Amino acid sequence: MICSEFLVHLDDLLDGTTDPTLRVALEAHLGTCEHCTITVTTTRKTIEVYRSNVLYDLPDSLRDRLQTAILARCKKC
Ligand SMILES: [Zn+2]
Repeated sequence: MICSEFLVHLDDLLDGTTDPTLRVALEAHLGTCEHCTITVTTTRKTIEVYRSNVLYDLPDSLRDRLQTAILARCKKC
C-alpha cells in the first residue's frame, strides 16, 4: 500500500468502519510509514477537540491541508 491509497481509507479507519482485511493492510502501512502515522495521530486529536466542542465534522480545509502535507513529504506516494 502507498500513502495515497492509505489516505483514501483514512476516514473509515478513524470511524472504525473499515473492513477487517483492509484494516490489517492499513495498520501494516502505518507500521512502515511515519508520515501517515503522524497524519492519523493529528487527525484523531483534532476530532477529539471537535467532539469536546460538540462539533464532529472535520473541516474540509484541514483535511485537505493534512493530505497535501503528507503527499508532499512522502517519497513512496
Ligand atoms: Zn504512508
